[in-house]
Amino acid sequence: MKHQEIMLNTLIKENKLNGFSEEEIGDDHIYTGLETPMKPDAFKISDEVKKDKIADLFSQIMDVMGLDLEDDSLKGTPNRVAKMYIDEIFSGLNPANKPKVALFDNKYQYNQMLVEKNITFYSNCEHHFVPIIGKAHIAYISSGKVIGLSKLNRIVQYFAKRPQVQERLTNQIAAELRQILETEDVAVIIDAKHLCVSSRGIKDDTSATVTSFYGGVFNTTSKIAELQNYLN
Ligand SMILES: [Zn+2]
Repeated sequence: MKHQEIMLNTLIKENKLNGFSEEEIGDDHIYTGLETPMKPDAFKISDEVKKDKIADLFSQIMDVMGLDLEDDSLKGTPNRVAKMYIDEIFSGLNPANKPKVALFDNKYQYNQMLVEKNITFYSNCEHHFVPIIGKAHIAYISSGKVIGLSKLNRIVQYFAKRPQVQERLTNQIAAELRQILETEDVAVIIDAKHLCVSSRGIKDDTSATVTSFYGGVFNTTSKIAELQNYLN
């Protein structure tokens, strides 16, 4: 094997790309881990400083594309994009924005599955930065504790508001629920449309992507069938 090939193979192994190029990883939406890859110093600068930097950089992108930033319609865009990134669509990157969840005793003694279905979410594909639009369905069986129903919704929204891949979004929601609810008996199903598949690239407007996590007792044929029955 030539020196260059060895170097390349080492690089690929170290980057855990499993023999795929970065380009292929991105276009085939392969993901590399449960945690969102973040720099250790991700929160050393404030949100306000981040917005200033993003606005400046985004105006440079617009300028390179030849857009006239003096135009009345365009001049506010860099600031709007910066504010939207930090305060809205990528606000789930910041752990400070994680929903605070209180647990309650399961006073109703309800011990069957609870299903919260059709939770609409908007996320963004981390490979193309275009929207992922979908519905999440969540189910759990109480281990003695319950949480408010709207919190299930908020947990989905928090993890959706990041640059994402659907598999990671599914697993991050499941991991959070298992931890909060102190049980493995958790299921998450996500059915979503990726605009990077429908509006560009392969341009398939009708396909959708479904991912699932079945933990604990949900990982049995009978529970999966029961859950599917509630979802249909
Ligand atoms: Zn994409």
